[in-house]
Amino acid sequence: MAKIGINIATGSLQKEEMIVGIDLGTTNSLIAIIHPESREATILKEVDGMGKGAGALVPSVIHFQETGSAEVGELAKDYLVADPGNTIFSAKRLMGKSFNDIRDHAGFFSYKIIDENPESLVKVQVGNKFYSPIDLSSIILKELKQRAEHILKTPVNKAVITVPAYFNDAQRQATRDAGKLAGLEVLRIINEPTAASLAYGLGLDRNEQKTIAVYDLGGGTFDISILRITDGVFEVLSTHGDTYLGGDDFDRAIMDYWVSSNQLDATELNSNPSDMQSARLAAERAKKQLSKGEHFETMVDGRRLSIDKSTFEGLIEGLINRTLDSCKLALKDAGLKITEIDAIVMVGGSTRVPYVKKAVTGFFGREVNDSLNPDEVVALGAAIQADILAGNNRDFLLLDITPLSLGIETSGGLMDVLIPRNSKIPTRAARQYTTQVDGQAGMRISVFQGERDLVQHNRKLAEFILSGIPGMPAGLAKVEISFMIDADGILTVRAKELRSGVEQSIEVKPQYGLTDADVERMLSDSITHAESDIQARALGEARNEGEQLLKTTERFLQKNSAHLTHQELLDTAHAMQALQLSLTMEDKNLILEKHTALNEISKPYAERIMDEAVASAMKGKSI
Ligand code: ADP
Ligand code: MG
Repeated sequence: MAKIGINIATGSLQKEEMIVGIDLGTTNSLIAIIHPESREATILKEVDGMGKGAGALVPSVIHFQETGSAEVGELAKDYLVADPGNTIFSAKRLMGKSFNDIRDHAGFFSYKIIDENPESLVKVQVGNKFYSPIDLSSIILKELKQRAEHILKTPVNKAVITVPAYFNDAQRQATRDAGKLAGLEVLRIINEPTAASLAYGLGLDRNEQKTIAVYDLGGGTFDISILRITDGVFEVLSTHGDTYLGGDDFDRAIMDYWVSSNQLDATELNSNPSDMQSARLAAERAKKQLSKGEHFETMVDGRRLSIDKSTFEGLIEGLINRTLDSCKLALKDAGLKITEIDAIVMVGGSTRVPYVKKAVTGFFGREVNDSLNPDEVVALGAAIQADILAGNNRDFLLLDITPLSLGIETSGGLMDVLIPRNSKIPTRAARQYTTQVDGQAGMRISVFQGERDLVQHNRKLAEFILSGIPGMPAGLAKVEISFMIDADGILTVRAKELRSGVEQSIEVKPQYGLTDADVERMLSDSITHAESDIQARALGEARNEGEQLLKTTERFLQKNSAHLTHQELLDTAHAMQALQLSLTMEDKNLILEKHTALNEISKPYAERIMDEAVASAMKGKSI
């Protein structure tokens, strides 16, 4: 039971802090919570309308008025055709993208996308103002936050937000930033198919091992994801789809049909935006009607428009077949047969179309999960995840990814990443290292977390020494370092010398002690310092190579100085001295120059001596 109090100053109800789940969709967005009394995942709906439409789905559309103020949702959707230049839809498609990324689809957007610098992140121009996709998504999130606060009568400051499984780092980070800009602390970004599975209770049993296909057909995008759940951890085995295929294409197909069957006049439509808009809306109504009935008929601007179900199914058959092709590819990528799928989850408003359900059921050869509203499942799952994070569901799963990269320090103070950030846990990784000095008996293993190239800028998590390595020449020992993160986020680092079997390990808790703000700072540092890091890394590497060359030359001289001329010895000593000196300076190019110089001096006699050695080894032997 949630505690409820009254704020004496404002008279408003003060409930225990609530974390909401948000489905930030391309077409529609919505918020869900776990109801404090019933403990059921519940979509937040406006009960009194507020003049904003009483539905739960908030169209992800923003209309900017001349004054610069914005309206979001149903009201904005009305301007899609009437005022296309100032009405932004599908902002999600632009998240984390440069103009080059979307060039092929530039015609899709009826608003102005800036192409001046095609390499950098896109911006949208409205009037004389510029908005990044992060700004735009934050406007939608702010609206959702306000609506939730209005309904719940309590501040909403924390959220779990969903993203498609195929979103990359930049897109996830952009979503996180949009949340922050909207005044939300984003506790976690989770995958939409994972959320949908959670809504169906899949994965909530810790001992469950399941393989799930999540088929998501929304307004403008389609994706299929194959998930594997083991011990409450979701892993995306594969994902496929088409980011320009969805219910909007069904609407367009209906409009085209009305035109080709002379129920609508193309020239009239094209010359009159408001006719176009009403025809488009009629087509969407027709589609929805045909999800329930056999026939649709309406009057629009004095014209009778009609279509029946079988005609509609003929129109979309090709589109649906394309989604099934993606399903085949996803199965292939996951290395699975259809029979190995334990459950199919239907997501997205367009899966309400009976033909879609039938096609998917037929393809997988089994019943699909469709008992929940397909356009609500993602938000419901996000609410379940939010509740788990709030600690109300402690015995449930801990889905997680590593927020920062984990690695060890290698010579020159360089960070060698073993587990990159955003890896799903549990996970493991191993790599081999070797000794730098002859007879080296111990090796210091320093574990770091962070994105910078030099460990000194990252955070040290642990350090231990692998001792008892048996004496051998430098470079011969084979030390395998392995990192393992279990489902609870505990990192174990193990070092083992493979020739002798000497072994040492240590347990580290990577996440603890780092706040979200720390993580964000470390990430943004890694971006701002990228340039200087590259230089520092280059300097570090040049130094390492220089030291290595000095060592090998020394060893060579110890064995072979008798075979060198006096002049060769003198030149070599000079070149070594110069290289040694350059290592103490901060100039990478100088080191490289001295490195090359020493190489050039030693190469001729090294080759000569090698040849002599080979010749003497061959003496007396016949081939
Ligand atoms: P997104 O995930 O892209 O934001 P949704 O999952 O909300 O989108 O799906 C929106 C799409 O679902 C729209 O194309 C809408 O017309 C379609 N849709 C909603 N309800 C129905 C229905 N009853 N029958 C057919 N299509 C529907
Ligand atoms: Mg969706």
